[in-house]
Amino acid sequence: MRILIVGAGPTGLTAAVELARRGMLPDIIDRRDSGSGLSRAVGIMPTSLKILKPSGVTAQLVAEGIKFHAVKIYNGASLAFSMRLALKGRKDEFVLGLPQDRTEAHLQSAFEKYGGKIQFATELENLSQTGEQVIVTFTDGTTENYDYVIGADGISSTTRSLLGLGFPGHDLPETWSIADVDAENWPNGNSFTICKLKAREIVVVAPLEANRYRIISNTEDALKSLPLPINVTKIRRQGQFGISIRQVEAYSKGRVYLAGDAAHCHSPVGGRGMNLGISDSAELAHRFATGDLAGYSANRHREGKIIIGGSETIRKFVTSPNFFMRKLLFALLWLVGKLPFLQVKIIERILYGGLLEE
Ligand SMILES: Cc1cc2nc3c(=O)[nH]c(=O)nc-3n(C[C@H](O)[C@H](O)[C@H](O)COP(=O)(O)OP(=O)(O)OC[C@H]3O[C@@H](n4cnc5c(N)ncnc54)[C@H](O)[C@@H]3O)c2cc1C
Repeated sequence: MRILIVGAGPTGLTAAVELARRGMLPDIIDRRDSGSGLSRAVGIMPTSLKILKPSGVTAQLVAEGIKFHAVKIYNGASLAFSMRLALKGRKDEFVLGLPQDRTEAHLQSAFEKYGGKIQFATELENLSQTGEQVIVTFTDGTTENYDYVIGADGISSTTRSLLGLGFPGHDLPETWSIADVDAENWPNGNSFTICKLKAREIVVVAPLEANRYRIISNTEDALKSLPLPINVTKIRRQGQFGISIRQVEAYSKGRVYLAGDAAHCHSPVGGRGMNLGISDSAELAHRFATGDLAGYSANRHREGKIIIGGSETIRKFVTSPNFFMRKLLFALLWLVGKLPFLQVKIIERILYGGLLEE
């Protein structure tokens, strides 16, 4: 069986590894010249770690990443809430922090161990389908026939456009900002820190590795907006980005399947984008192995909708400019601090996004 994966981001690489592990070595292309140096996603969730365990990738990620021990929420600069991010008796379930480019590097080397090779500087231009084959044209003018194609080519997916599938949703009007910094003496080195500022503004700090942090905010300058003192020794990158909330109308058409950002996108709140793509790919590879491809689209659409809905509910709640919502947020946090069973529910939601079988 000949399978082509378009895109060697975390989604395409997971599909490549999971197919190769089952003896179905695919072709995988990316229009980039080499591996990515961009570290967009930070948090790797327990479901992703479980998926990547048999290939040996999880052991590599855990050896290099940082385990998030706690979530801390500040009202301005005052600590309002702190909760350990661990479930009793489930010690191997935690959120791991690692820059996305490192996760991709470990996936790439696992794929190579199975005998695979990413074809960089190769770009999908067109595709058409007969009942039994997908005819793929690359930008250098060459053509190849495949049994199946997996479009894992990100938010502006060429595959999705060529299939003519709608990507309904909306773009948030505001711009968010990001800063990756080296810093010393940050007190929350193993915690996920959220600062609620005035009105709708928030700043989030997540550790990337020892003394290296990601700061994200819905203000114009994440670093300047952080209300807590941080001793920055180096700014690795700073910038702004827009956010779209969208989900493709169907995850497959004929013999072509979509996964990852090609099929869905949402805000980084909840840290689920990359993890959802990893789950898409794991399910797709499993279905290729069992020959049960028919249910892929409906199941991934349903699960994606739950994750996007959950991420949006939290984003709207924590960024609400409403005075009463702010009061309600801190009152709820106070209550959660008093009630351990509610803490378990919240930790489960953070770890699994509302999907125990994500
Ligand atoms: C600031 C920020 C923070 C984030 N934080 C988190 C987080 O903490 N946790 C989380 O889970 N997610 C997070 N995300 C989301 C996460 O980065 C994405 O969901 C993830 O990168 C999607 O992976 P992907 O492989 O589907 O797509 P991509 O990573 O976009 O990869 C697609 C690949 O396809 C290639 N490509 C595109 N078109 C073609 C073509 N025509 N031919 C060949 N190749 C092509 C591209 O070069 C690219 O390498 C964050 C995103 C942002 C912007």
